[in-house]
Amino acid sequence: MEKEKLRYNREKLLEMRRNLITKLNERYNEAMGLGGDGTQDSADEAYNLYNKNLMLGRVETDALKLRLIEQALQRIDAATYGVCIECEEDIEEKRLEYVPFARYCTDCKSELEKKGLIKM
Ligand SMILES: [Zn+2]
Repeated sequence: MEKEKLRYNREKLLEMRRNLITKLNERYNEAMGLGGDGTQDSADEAYNLYNKNLMLGRVETDALKLRLIEQALQRIDAATYGVCIECEEDIEEKRLEYVPFARYCTDCKSELEKKGLIKM
């Protein structure tokens, strides 16, 4: 990958990481603030519990994304960025434009997803 593009993707990843960390903190606090104070009736309680789980589910997805971003930044430092970690072919640049933290090329990704081995 060209140096210029690498630098651009690195900036993008750092920006994504900043935003995600902020979002994660907000969501987590929001989820933790819901329910459990014993002052609501049981319907409210159930509803809040539902929302809480929903939000924590999103936190989990974001946490996974954050981990992928961290790993992508490490691959940039190790000069292995943009290479599929499965087949070691170059990842399509178009794909990296949309998903700068991609670990797999499109083929490997759909193959692994079919087998249920990866979520993202
Ligand atoms: Zn591959």
